[in-house]
Amino acid sequence: MVVDVFDPVGQTLACLAQAERVLNGALEGKYLEDLEEEFQVYWGGELCLLDIQDVHAELQAVVMTPSESGVFGAITDDYQRTLRKLQAIKRGGKQAPWPAFCVSTGIKPRPNLDVWPPKTVGQFLNWQGGLDVNCRKALERKMLKALQNGAPGVVLMVHSPLVRYCVGVLFRDSAVSGKRILRNKSWLYERRLFRLEGVRIDDCYVAERNTPGVRTLAGKKIVLVGAGTIGGYLAEMLVKAGAGTSGGQLIVVDPDYLFPQNLGRHRLGFSHLFKHKADALSEELTGVSPGCKISGVVEDVRHVELRGVDLLVNATGEEALGHWLCRYAREQPTLTVWIEGPGSAVRGLLKASNRSACFRCLCDANREGALLATEEPVEPLMAGNGCEGLYVPFPASVSVQAASLAAEMVQAWCSEEPAPALRTRVIDQTRTLATPDCDPLANADCPACCT
Ligand SMILES: [Zn+2]
Repeated sequence: MVVDVFDPVGQTLACLAQAERVLNGALEGKYLEDLEEEFQVYWGGELCLLDIQDVHAELQAVVMTPSESGVFGAITDDYQRTLRKLQAIKRGGKQAPWPAFCVSTGIKPRPNLDVWPPKTVGQFLNWQGGLDVNCRKALERKMLKALQNGAPGVVLMVHSPLVRYCVGVLFRDSAVSGKRILRNKSWLYERRLFRLEGVRIDDCYVAERNTPGVRTLAGKKIVLVGAGTIGGYLAEMLVKAGAGTSGGQLIVVDPDYLFPQNLGRHRLGFSHLFKHKADALSEELTGVSPGCKISGVVEDVRHVELRGVDLLVNATGEEALGHWLCRYAREQPTLTVWIEGPGSAVRGLLKASNRSACFRCLCDANREGALLATEEPVEPLMAGNGCEGLYVPFPASVSVQAASLAAEMVQAWCSEEPAPALRTRVIDQTRTLATPDCDPLANADCPACCT
């Protein structure tokens, strides 16, 4: 429903009439499914971050100190990874972890109309017993186990078909510490219950959330050559698509430093000046995605071992190096991305099979006037003839479009739908596209990939 902002009175009356209808229906026992849907809203409580890749693994809870309000804690199957994430949001005090457990149920939660919300462990277990007796038993068993093991508290997550919701129970109350107290079932039932709202922060969720059903880059070993203007933006897009997570790795190779002349069109800013681009970029992206395994290699790629890599991405924009990589890494699927001339077009070429053209094959074809990006010839345009050294002038917006094209092609490779292997996007609107996206074949005489 779109609210008509020019009719506030009429719209408010319509909302009230609708609310009356729904509430009457709810009192008559209708809309049970709707109430289930709304459950999370009414469960409330502090946030409990869920950083769980494998629910069957042993779980722990990182519990915040009382001063860190707003977030109760986090449940994790990898304590160190979750600590990095919490440190990135400046949280995660030095408390010993609590045990945590996940209990599954096939029943969707619905509020209990008698006692709501549950404030003690006893009320919580009663409510659970009304929904799913087995789930109730399992929850009580886990709580008693933690209690008997002398844990300071326990966090439980109920994994229901609709939602994951959590509770926390503090066993060690500072007011009674030191005293011998009888810790049995009835003592447990009296404990205060912390209702917790589960919020997923696991890497799978972050990468899959915006593209449901699409494969992510999780688990892949990807080497990105070039942490320059294209590589910087591209690395971030790859990380957001799951690169470096779930056992995967993203390796950024670049021997150069970040200088002031780079800042105007680089993903990195002033705080990284005079650092190696590869190191600075991995540092920056570790903050963007602390669960991601990303490393910088400050080295000429010609000295880097590339065997065993799932995908090699060349974002250096250096033609000669591109030819060399076609030869040296011809066993690896390779994506080359570059900017044509002074930003007239951006192009990407993926070589994922022996039959496809490599970057050298394409450059040879271009010299003969075939497979060109634009109808109009690209005039070489250079700036900086002084002591800064030569460079090709184009703005950051062009690099971002090259990075976007490359990210799209990496996604296509990951989904095993690599075609078309040669893609061109004309940026300068005074120019005309010469070669529609296609799948050029390798040239049998290519010195890089065929001989
Ligand atoms: Zn070739």
